[in-house]
Amino acid sequence: MGKAEVGTPKYLSNKMKAKGLQKLRWYCQMCQKQCRDENGFKCHTMSESHQRQLLLFADNSKRYIDDFSFQFAKGYMEILRRQFGTKRVNANRVYQEYIHDRDHIHMNGTRWVTLTGFVKWLGRTGQAIVDETEKGWFITYIDRSPETVEREEKKKKKLKMDKNDEEKRMEFIEKQAKLDKEKAGPSVEPVYSELIRENEEET
Ligand SMILES: [Zn+2]
Repeated sequence: MGKAEVGTPKYLSNKMKAKGLQKLRWYCQMCQKQCRDENGFKCHTMSESHQRQLLLFADNSKRYIDDFSFQFAKGYMEILRRQFGTKRVNANRVYQEYIHDRDHIHMNGTRWVTLTGFVKWLGRTGQAIVDETEKGWFITYIDRSPETVEREEKKKKKLKMDKNDEEKRMEFIEKQAKLDKEKAGPSVEPVYSELIRENEEET
């Protein structure tokens, strides 16, 4: 990459590339324009609309990348939730589904360079459960919808109630056993000693 004079379109273009907003199969994420080939992309980058976007981008590059990143993550998680639920799935499979939508946010417009980086970020920020295998990274959606949380709470409550009931039942049984013992009167022990005495008298 040659050194370009500060402020020129080439300088801005280099700066954009350095920030990770570079072309991937001739797509301009900034203008959200797909070009057919290298020549088409070249023509696009020289167009007035692209140059205008470039100047805007140079002023707000952080905001652009944040916005693209936010939308990318949102779209990816939406696919994961809708199509796979809480089933553990290969992260790349979800990605393939995501990029199937022709209006998807291209990863090269986000802060993530690779899918692995993105998946690790999801795990680190607690948005999903992720784990690495020989077949790549796997991802599991964490269901935090109010309905699910409520259902889980109810389940936990019921479990606790069941446990209390069981404890009470055991307590009752123990008490009952003690009562029965009392009702039965003195245990066999005195009878046994009496028998011994009888034996002694005999001899
Ligand atoms: Zn453009």
